[in-house]
Amino acid sequence: MRLSRYFLPILREVPKEAEIVSHRLMLRAGMIRQESAGIYAWLPLGKRVLDKICNVVREEQNRAGAIEIMMPTIQSADLWRESGRYDDYGKEMLRIKDRHEREMLYGPTNEEMLTEIVRAYVKSYKDLPLNLYHIQWKFRDEVRPRFGVMRSREFLMKDAYSVDLDFESAVTSYNRMFVAYLRTFARLGLKAIPMVADTGPIGGNHSHEFIILASTGESQVFCHSDYLEMATPGSDVDFDDAGALQDIVNRWTSLYAATEEKHEEEAFTAIPDGQRLSARGIEVGHIFYFGTKYSEPMGAKVTGPDGVERPVHMGSYGIGPSRLAAAIIEASHDENGIIWPEAIAPFRVGLLNLKAGDAATDAACDTIYAELMARNVDVLYDDTDERPGSKFATADLIGLPWQIIVGPKGLAAGTVELKRRADGSRETLTVAAALQRIL
Ligand code: ATP
Ligand code: MG
Ligand code: MG
Ligand code: MG
Repeated sequence: MRLSRYFLPILREVPKEAEIVSHRLMLRAGMIRQESAGIYAWLPLGKRVLDKICNVVREEQNRAGAIEIMMPTIQSADLWRESGRYDDYGKEMLRIKDRHEREMLYGPTNEEMLTEIVRAYVKSYKDLPLNLYHIQWKFRDEVRPRFGVMRSREFLMKDAYSVDLDFESAVTSYNRMFVAYLRTFARLGLKAIPMVADTGPIGGNHSHEFIILASTGESQVFCHSDYLEMATPGSDVDFDDAGALQDIVNRWTSLYAATEEKHEEEAFTAIPDGQRLSARGIEVGHIFYFGTKYSEPMGAKVTGPDGVERPVHMGSYGIGPSRLAAAIIEASHDENGIIWPEAIAPFRVGLLNLKAGDAATDAACDTIYAELMARNVDVLYDDTDERPGSKFATADLIGLPWQIIVGPKGLAAGTVELKRRADGSRETLTVAAALQRIL
């Protein structure tokens, strides 16, 4: 993409309304635009990041055996009356009436709808286990939308729903998502810690919030510091091997880690000095086994091997890709701007022409640009006639992992500069060597 033809509305001034760094940087880098309180438009750079996050999430969901579907944003109130949640959900639910005065709502989540789909088609234990997910916009009329897309009213969620015959196989489904989440967050460059979370009336211990530590986080959390060093499972995990999954989950739940609601001071103080972490955290994902909470009242039943009908055991598994875009910036930035992990950078390479209009630099940049495009590398070519200082500032602000800096002086000596955004290191190399480093 040529910057001269792109839409990248950079803000030079620090927006006053933004209280936390990720919100400031997303506005300054032209990623998002607030359209109403807690409702955002995603501009080109932001859209690229959001798509990349969704793709990582999707790949790991698929790897774990979940199947993608797409449910609508608008749901009928009657569906929610079946579970009893239409009245219980309260003010976070946006309620709408259509022209026939039928009560509708903008979905804050999809347990009821998924249960309805299962009820319609799944009749036998032979159809199980099943895990269906979608990546769809949700609406929750948050009391205090704030921090940009971190806590917005309209937000994107990946929500998966597992369906099993009994508790035991539901636990395996839960473990699959647990492991998939560990892999997902690691690929996004995040250290997310699974923390014991509230299960409400369901009870048991199958609810974990995946939390990343950040001073701006809204939750108070407590954990053993060894979690920050724990190795994440590789891509060779066998999602059909219930024992292997359980081993990974056991390891990742062996140390203390709990959200405020589930905090036990005694267990926490048992952690040796220097390894106790009491910190603020951001909830980026949440997995939850809720048994027959919806299948029972809604009549989603299957016939077991014994011919007896019983309600299915279910769980739900959420990740917020739009919140993640902000959370990743909270975890990865410096005073100059965003530092994107390669996996989700909007462009992998920034190509900076320091003297656009100069025949030699234009020609060199054109060659590099063509080569990168031919190799399918996402590249943003700054071919504008801005001054070098402003080009450097933009490239650092939007956080592209690699910058190839092309100027007349270097070219005279047959070289360009290659800069790594992550550590600011620069090397002077021939064009061929610079390309080789990236490709
Ligand atoms: P929170 O405690 O932050 O209000 P939640 O517990 O209500 O979140 P869940 O119902 O568990 O959220 O939804 C799953 C995921 O959706 C969360 O882990 C988070 O990543 C994302 N999410 C929830 N609410 C929002 C929001 N208002 N804005 C952006 N992302 C959100
Ligand atoms: Mg909430
Ligand atoms: Mg929560
Ligand atoms: Mg939650």
